[in-house]
Amino acid sequence: MGILSDNRGLSAVIADVADVAGYIWQKGWGERNGGNITVNITSLASPAWASQPALTEPIAIGCTLPYLKGQYFYAKGTQKRMRDLCKAPMHNGSIIRITDDAAHYVIIADEAVLPTSELPSHLMVQNYLLQSGSSYTATLHTHPIELVAMSHSDEFLQSEHLTQTLWSMIPETLAFAPLGIGVVPYQLPGSIQLAQATLEMIDRYDVVLWEKHGTFAVGKDIMDAFDQTDVLNKAAMIYLRARSMGFVPKGMTRQQMTQVQEVFNLPKKRG
Ligand SMILES: [Zn+2]
Repeated sequence: MGILSDNRGLSAVIADVADVAGYIWQKGWGERNGGNITVNITSLASPAWASQPALTEPIAIGCTLPYLKGQYFYAKGTQKRMRDLCKAPMHNGSIIRITDDAAHYVIIADEAVLPTSELPSHLMVQNYLLQSGSSYTATLHTHPIELVAMSHSDEFLQSEHLTQTLWSMIPETLAFAPLGIGVVPYQLPGSIQLAQATLEMIDRYDVVLWEKHGTFAVGKDIMDAFDQTDVLNKAAMIYLRARSMGFVPKGMTRQQMTQVQEVFNLPKKRG
């Protein structure tokens, strides 16, 4: 019997993770094992989990994250593919528990699938979310084609310029990604430097763009993190489509964008 069998709340969360993995594959954002997902599922944990024997010895996270002590996460497995995860999430990811020293984790279900190599950056952001009292639970790293393409231009490595350009493509981008997108200069994948640079940006922006690599988003749940990424990438697609037709898109004017911000009372910082 799997851990989902008597837990409808957790089953629904994992079904959403599977759906998002499917969307990512269909969009061409998740080649091979590209991309990672973590979701904090502690609020759905059953009391029986505390005494559930671990499937592994404690594994070092690589840093100490005090707010994660005793927390449970679903994490995509290392070397696992999004296109497989969408069909079998518990064979391509696992449930982990952070140990009492807040520096290690054990896998508790369903199989000893080792989490993503990007786990430190995902858990550092998860630690920050708990520390800051945020209700956000999900982190998503993926490779949205058009946003990554734009990150190859020096012009769009300026966060404010990229944000204004994307917001100006259609009003909904501004409405649904009101904090915009922050750019992190290139860093080695999986490095602590990349995790720290992401952490500094995620406080201010809906989505962080890693230069020449991909995006990192946080959300109330995994659908929310996906939507933020999707909305911004749609704007990037419109921008590039116009450029491919041979012109630079005019974009909405500052006045038109300010009107959207005021009429819809859009937040200027994370609530
Ligand atoms: Zn990546």
